[in-house]
Amino acid sequence: MPGLQTLYQLQVAELERADVARRLEEAEKSLGETDDLRRARADLQGEESGLSALRTRVRDLELEVKGLNGKAAATEKRLYGGEVRSPKELESLQADLASLRTRRGSLEDTILAGLTEMDEREARLRRARERYEAVHSAWEARQGELQASLATLRRRLAELEEQISRLRAALPASLLELYDETCRKKGGRGVAAIRGGLCEGCRVSVPTGIIQQVRGGEQIHRCTSCGRILCVVG
Ligand SMILES: [Zn+2]
Repeated sequence: MPGLQTLYQLQVAELERADVARRLEEAEKSLGETDDLRRARADLQGEESGLSALRTRVRDLELEVKGLNGKAAATEKRLYGGEVRSPKELESLQADLASLRTRRGSLEDTILAGLTEMDEREARLRRARERYEAVHSAWEARQGELQASLATLRRRLAELEEQISRLRAALPASLLELYDETCRKKGGRGVAAIRGGLCEGCRVSVPTGIIQQVRGGEQIHRCTSCGRILCVVG
């Protein structure tokens, strides 16, 4: 019976195909954004929007101080301009001025606190940006490696497919049928080579007479222990 060596080559190729297909699937799953990258980007965006909101708040307060300064100047002008003489009115203007100044003082304190917070937030933003850039460039390098390994694996898979169809075409249908059936039962290993007098599938020794017959290649022998098709390689 011809073809045992070919059958063994077929099994080697099919086992490699399964391995390559599994690695390909893993590599494909690793493509795309990672949680780490998404988290680093969200942190950066959070810091950016926090700082920008604080800047707007401080700018608004500064505008409000400017408005109060205008009002205070107008009040002072009326108070000291000599046009207003009524003591009651003067008293009320003085009270207005005092309240404007108090309000301005409190706004200036808030602005000062805002500026201090801005410094802290700017430092945090710088750190978040550095972290994002580091994570992103590592991610980019990894994606490049993955793409290269995907290309290699796809090429190898195509080679194996071609080799497998060539080997299958060269084998008798009855032998292939037996092989496929045994493979289904034996985890894709339907053929076992005899090595050192043992079946490599189950490590049980094969009688010398059977080894001779297998070597002669006239008849199909299956391991009496595991049922795999026996062959002699090399
Ligand atoms: Zn066996």
